[in-house]
Amino acid sequence: MPINIKNLSCIYSADTPFEVRALDGISLDIGAGEFIGIIGPTGSGKSTLVQHFNGLIRPTQGQVLVDGRDLADKTTDLRAVRQNVGLVFQYPEHQLFEETVFADVAFGPKNQGVPEAELRERVHEALALVGLEPEGIVDRSPFELSGGQMRRVAIAGVLAMRPQVLVLDEPTAGLDPEGRDELLAQLGQLHSGSGMTVILVSHSMEDIARVATRLIVLAGGKLVADGPPRTVFTQAKMLTDIGLGVPQVTELMLALRERGYDVPAVALSVEEACATILELSYRGEQR
Ligand code: ADP
Ligand code: MG
Repeated sequence: MPINIKNLSCIYSADTPFEVRALDGISLDIGAGEFIGIIGPTGSGKSTLVQHFNGLIRPTQGQVLVDGRDLADKTTDLRAVRQNVGLVFQYPEHQLFEETVFADVAFGPKNQGVPEAELRERVHEALALVGLEPEGIVDRSPFELSGGQMRRVAIAGVLAMRPQVLVLDEPTAGLDPEGRDELLAQLGQLHSGSGMTVILVSHSMEDIARVATRLIVLAGGKLVADGPPRTVFTQAKMLTDIGLGVPQVTELMLALRERGYDVPAVALSVEEACATILELSYRGEQR
């Protein structure tokens, strides 16, 4: 399910003293099955952009096509679009409200008209996808779960609608490092196992470098970089100037290069940096 965005701008509170240009001329094509990281400092327009992907915000300037359907067109059926493009908001656990986990996860598909008899399968499948054992949890109240579990139940509620595109707005915000690592690993598995398009919004380079195969960088409502992480991270100065920086392991590579060592400019993981440094010391011994 491709998403094509052409010259999209968005202004909040237009023609008032509070006018904000949140998006400024964004063009972007997202192909089926990609794993995209959208990154940018606070206020750069990330949330505004992703809310255009399922028509939560209707485009007023520029174009958004989802699977060829024009979201500015008043006759476009947004229900169908939302069925295919699932959006997980920031702090989605704040939107849990049912008495049981089952009812919460079943809420979306039920609204879509999925028959009662199929709901159980949908709920169990979605919970398993986020790494929760369905049997132990469906009858519990979402409010007695841990923060990380609540977050995953909320994500399961979107997955239960079987979207083809999953958009998550800062899904790791507020989780402890362990919860964050688990969730990122699960999203990676979800993507490779299902062929689903995953779009992950974050302001953490460390998070995104590990999972996304394409990075889109926003600053001040503009798209300032778009490419594979390895290519984007070579623009270390620009990324630092807009207040993002590069992953610590890439910083390490850059520091080694400054001292005259012949290493790649970018490392995406600690494992990769380790291998480079071991190789370096091995070469040193050979000398
Ligand atoms: P991000 O998700 O990158 O932090 P947002 O898309 O939330 O960025 O915000 C982009 C800009 O639009 C910011 O200046 C923000 O203050 C402004 N903004 C966001 N939502 C609204 C809104 N509902 N009304 C007015 N201004 C908004
Ligand atoms: Mg945001």
